[in-house]
Amino acid sequence: MENDLESMRARLAEVRLRIEIAARAVHRDPAEVMLVAVSKTHDANMVVAAIMAGQRLFGENRVQEATAKFAGIAQEHPGTLVHLIGPLQTNKARDGVRIADVIESVDRPKLLRALADAVQKEGKCPALLIQVNVGDEPQKAGVARAEADDFIAACRAEFGASVRGVMGIPPAERDPRPHFVWLAACARRNGLDTISMGMSGDFEIAIAEGATHVRVGSAIFGNRPASAATT
Ligand SMILES: *Cc1c(COP(=O)(O)O)cnc(C)c1O
Repeated sequence: MENDLESMRARLAEVRLRIEIAARAVHRDPAEVMLVAVSKTHDANMVVAAIMAGQRLFGENRVQEATAKFAGIAQEHPGTLVHLIGPLQTNKARDGVRIADVIESVDRPKLLRALADAVQKEGKCPALLIQVNVGDEPQKAGVARAEADDFIAACRAEFGASVRGVMGIPPAERDPRPHFVWLAACARRNGLDTISMGMSGDFEIAIAEGATHVRVGSAIFGNRPASAATT
């Protein structure tokens, strides 16, 4: 455990340093870039080690896993915030609203309606990001580029100021930069502050292009089983 904590401290410190260097390189204040530690597939002990090392924001892509892992942790460690970053099924909307401080994956009208219903029943609304399928990839979640502005407007009409920004995952194995540039412009055009983009392999580029939140998993927690795909 002592050892785990030491290596967690070291990995988090390295990622934070890389964030700082990337921000300073483009004359941004590193404090503008929030680190979301993606803890999916890793157990609660790892999360607690990260909390001990000063980490506050965590990303999970499944509602059930997030609830099992964080319901207790959030009580014991006030200030811990959970971001849901994975595709959200409409029948999980209510559980999602219950566990999440931020839902980063609002991506279709059917989910908008399910969330509106859940928000009403739960009497609280998480912060919401609209996920855009920046590469317009058929297998990937997110609203199509061409429909993003209209969908953002529809979400704002329903949720008002709870709609904070956008999230995107560029196509793998290609230059992510043009996709980051597009997503940042989309946020700006719509007057939204939060831009969640960049993962372990490309967060420095995302920061250069304006990311306010980077979602970093493997660089902090190590590799995941191959089945835990990013979608
Ligand atoms: C898993 C995941 C990440 C983190 O990926 P790493 O490459 O491990 O940093 C970021 N965003 C989303 C949406 C994910 O599902």
